[in-house]
Amino acid sequence: MQSLGNDSELAVKKDQKYLWHNITPYSEKNPPMIAASASGSWITDIQGNRFLDGMSGLWCVNVGYGRKELAEAAYNQLLALPYFPLTQSHLPAIALAEKLNEWLGDDYVIFFSNSGSEANEAAFKMARQYQQQIGQHYRHKFIARYRGYHGSSLGALSATGQAQRKYKYEPLAGGFLHVAPPDSYRRPAGMTVEEFNLQCAQSIEDMIIWEGVETVAAVIMEPVITGGGVIVPHQVYLDRVQEICRKHGVLLIMDEVICGFGRSGRKFGHHNFNVKPDIVTMAKGLTSAYLPLSATAVRKDIYEVFKDNSDDYGHFRHVNTFGGNPASCALALRNLEIIEQEKLVERADLLGKRINTEFTELLDHKLVGDVRSFGLVTGVELVEDKVGKKPVDLSIVKGIIAECKSKGLIIGKNGDTVAGFNNVLTFAPPLSSTDEDIEFIIDTFKSVLNGG
Ligand code: PLP
Repeated sequence: MQSLGNDSELAVKKDQKYLWHNITPYSEKNPPMIAASASGSWITDIQGNRFLDGMSGLWCVNVGYGRKELAEAAYNQLLALPYFPLTQSHLPAIALAEKLNEWLGDDYVIFFSNSGSEANEAAFKMARQYQQQIGQHYRHKFIARYRGYHGSSLGALSATGQAQRKYKYEPLAGGFLHVAPPDSYRRPAGMTVEEFNLQCAQSIEDMIIWEGVETVAAVIMEPVITGGGVIVPHQVYLDRVQEICRKHGVLLIMDEVICGFGRSGRKFGHHNFNVKPDIVTMAKGLTSAYLPLSATAVRKDIYEVFKDNSDDYGHFRHVNTFGGNPASCALALRNLEIIEQEKLVERADLLGKRINTEFTELLDHKLVGDVRSFGLVTGVELVEDKVGKKPVDLSIVKGIIAECKSKGLIIGKNGDTVAGFNNVLTFAPPLSSTDEDIEFIIDTFKSVLNGG
């Protein structure tokens, strides 16, 4: 960094020479944004341009940038004890596990890893092993939804229901099946949202039965599909999914990697529904992405099956060198305190409602087919025509994103799903955003959409 100084041209050249980016290919003519610093909801690039981060990075910087308290928490912990493996224990991990239990509001035991993908991998292994150890030897299959994203490692990618992310990496892990998500905007004509959601939940029960009840280990889902297009279920959907899982001895894994830590307007996304998942996975907002950390929370009675097992292979034989790093845990604790002290959960709810109200006015615009929000996550689905609901071409979506960026606003779009369905613009600013930040998002997006 030092050697590049303020020479942005050189930085671009070296970036192209040495760095392999996530997902997007860049070139010297089309370089990535190179960030230099950030504060609150705003990022400054190496040329000194400022952008409002309407996506909180990758849906993760929940408390906003530039929090000195978080740096201090990590710094102090690095001096006191920078590392100790969780094959044994340390105080920050114990304190954070207790805090997470409190946040979850139920009796869970916590296993730490580094990323959302790893938290889900741990959940899959726990679910299979648990089923075996209670005598359900054939239960190895997982049911997930199309359009949902659960991570990039081979198991988590297998659970992911976005075809374009999988091309050239298949065959993936076996035993992962998919059903359609409750995309109420595209429900059949003549059906109510509630009826459609019940039908979607029923497709999970049908799959469990057709696959053989005794072969299904768990269902995994986000409370709301976020990156896959902000697909918000009706209240009845998750209630019914939980009922089905319980009826058939199938575990319910809730992926709270994005929805957790206030993003949904409640502490966890599933708190918006009447469900008590068996396993909850979390990452991103746990540290507001200041350091890597993820967690797999497991219902106490499931954990007991591993703890009290007399079989030599009965414990969870999964090791993770960096998971639960003391500095990450100390920082996460401070992060949760900030969310509590500044009432950011409630703020997410308030700001999300404000964005939703303003964006709902855009339904009159010829391209806006639907506006969906869940806490401080909003999706704006763009279509060519409102009756046929044909998704707009990707070039239109990219054009709007680029135009917003030229006006200082970073927004996102849903991840690769299947060809043609990359048509949902996404908004997920930091929970700590000021009223002015939110006004800037609303005004900028409206002016871009209206050709201003
Ligand atoms: N689950 C969900 C819902 C996600 O959105 C993501 C990442 O975007 C993951 C899991 C994977 O997390 P990570 O990128 O930290 O591995």
